[in-house]
Amino acid sequence: MRRFKHFDAFTVEEATSLLGKFEGRARVIAGGTDIIGELKDDVRPEPYEALINIKTIPGLEEISEENGMLKIGALVKLEDIAHNETIKDKYTALALAAGRVGSPHIREMGTLGGNICQNVRCWYYRAPHNRFNCIRKGGDECFSSDGDNRYHSIFGDVKDCLAVNPSDTLPALVVLGAKIKTSKRIIEIGDFFPAKDDPTHMNILEPDEVVTEIQIPEPDPRMQTYWKKFAIRKSIDFPIVNCAVMVLKEGDVIEDARVCLNAVYYKPYVPERVADYLVGEELDEETAIIAAEAAVWGAKPLSKNEYKIQIAKGLVKQTLLACNGNR
Ligand SMILES: Cc1cc2nc3c(=O)[nH]c(=O)nc-3n(C[C@H](O)[C@H](O)[C@H](O)COP(=O)(O)OP(=O)(O)OC[C@H]3O[C@@H](n4cnc5c(N)ncnc54)[C@H](O)[C@@H]3O)c2cc1C
Repeated sequence: MRRFKHFDAFTVEEATSLLGKFEGRARVIAGGTDIIGELKDDVRPEPYEALINIKTIPGLEEISEENGMLKIGALVKLEDIAHNETIKDKYTALALAAGRVGSPHIREMGTLGGNICQNVRCWYYRAPHNRFNCIRKGGDECFSSDGDNRYHSIFGDVKDCLAVNPSDTLPALVVLGAKIKTSKRIIEIGDFFPAKDDPTHMNILEPDEVVTEIQIPEPDPRMQTYWKKFAIRKSIDFPIVNCAVMVLKEGDVIEDARVCLNAVYYKPYVPERVADYLVGEELDEETAIIAAEAAVWGAKPLSKNEYKIQIAKGLVKQTLLACNGNR
């Protein structure tokens, strides 16, 4: 592991000022469960020169409901989200997602801010000692396009980076209509991700910008959300695919719906056609099957990951039906 400087920030302003001084060569550390692995494996061609610890900033680890808004501080631990009664009851998809990240140890360390900002798990990107200088690191090749791409994107273009966003909580936040509050602004969750021709970043945060809070509007009491994940192991495993769903029904008829998949594209993937199809329908097995087919329309699997399409379809169907109580 190469040497790096470590600073404890005691205010958000101190954190952003320190980040600014390093002009993109420093990163925030929250729980450290993602970034320390990156540093230990020395995956970057130019390693981060400094880590700015934000756990020393008071007030970022609170959950509150204010003015029709759930506010979750960026430092709230995933385990606390998974067990919070209000979140379990009203923001169910998020509680379920937080409760399936990694293992109890990871969830006790890992924060929501870190979960939504975490880096890709692509084994070419993460190979120790920068063995593959891929597009994501500023190189000119995605080694997965002709390589072992079994866990990679099913919606990407082979000329782009094919690593997927691995976050379990992001799709839940997408269907719940979350906003990301930072040291500079408030960002709609759908706008949090860079364009696909900018593979070197996971989000649109500027080098001196810190996530401070995740805000979720109070859901309509008729709204149901659910979240499911397919992984090879039951715990300590990233999603092969995960799926979050929001359904709002008037009587038996769907009035509004959102579906989001993750680990299938470089950012959470919202198949628009699904919502269009679902609105006005009754939510039953047949509707769920058609929606699941629509969700993967346009998928472009790579040589070794066609199986992910079937998994994505299964998850969309099951997660939709879970909103009907079939859990
Ligand atoms: C064995 C193992 C299993 C895992 N399994 C899963 C899994 O199943 N699902 C899953 O989603 N993740 C998984 N993870 C990834 C990771 O542990 C979680 O995503 C965790 O929530 C990251 O949070 P953290 O606070 O530890 O982030 P950190 O490691 O501290 O930070 C991660 C990244 O986010 C940035 N960051 C952190 N906080 C902020 C902030 N407030 N503002 C701006 N940038 C910020 C950091 O600079 C860094 O780039 C796993 C990790 C390991 C090691």
